[in-house]
Amino acid sequence: MREGRCLCGQVRFSADGAPTWTSYCHCQSCRRQTGAPVAAYAGFEAAKVRFTGDGLSYFESSPGVRRGFCGRCGSTLTYRWPGEIHLHVGAFDDPATLAPAGHAFADERLPWLKL
Ligand SMILES: [Zn+2]
Ligand SMILES: [Zn+2]
Repeated sequence: MREGRCLCGQVRFSADGAPTWTSYCHCQSCRRQTGAPVAAYAGFEAAKVRFTGDGLSYFESSPGVRRGFCGRCGSTLTYRWPGEIHLHVGAFDDPATLAPAGHAFADERLPWLKL
């Protein structure tokens, strides 16, 4: 069981078991939403993720895709579509154990970003 939270602590989550997928995402949409040069995600089956607190808000960035964030502090938390939830690695309590295994949208990677 892994746990995590937003910056202010109003939204907390837990995820059971190993992630089905981990990756950096270099796409422009993730860059704009996070304000960071790259996003890093760990994906889980939606049924294995639970949220507590009532602060989770959503923005539908494309049909069927909802990006979740804390409505109070603005922390970016999820990228989800039916059946699957990608959680931002930086929101976990143990991010050091969730190394991204790949690079999505590598063609949009910023030229100065060294990883
Ligand atoms: Zn918050
Ligand atoms: Zn992306």
